[in-house]
Amino acid sequence: MLHTGSCHCGALSFEFEAPPVTEGLRCNCSICARKGATMTGFSVSSEQIRIKAKDGALSTYTFGSGVAKHHFCNKCGIYTFHQTLRQPGYYRINIGCIDGVDSSSIPFEVFNGAAIKS
Ligand SMILES: [Zn+2]
Repeated sequence: MLHTGSCHCGALSFEFEAPPVTEGLRCNCSICARKGATMTGFSVSSEQIRIKAKDGALSTYTFGSGVAKHHFCNKCGIYTFHQTLRQPGYYRINIGCIDGVDSSSIPFEVFNGAAIKS
């Protein structure tokens, strides 16, 4: 199905093809622990996601090896998606940013990212 979503202010929006969102993933690494977001359990390729950013709203934070790319809106500060450490070029989406999905009702697994060198 086609999912749509955005940051809070709407400067950053996206759509992607994927199955319905029924499970999430959280991670205990140093950055995910601070964000506290539940991400999609699946990842989507750069061909599957279309990202629209107004006025250069898309910013990217990296640390450590720089492989994982943490994308956020630099107008409202919301973290919308990241490119994963394990699969560069693939994105996990912040479930809270997906239209019509109640992120607080989605069960999630916890990935032990703290055990992996970033
Ligand atoms: Zn925004």
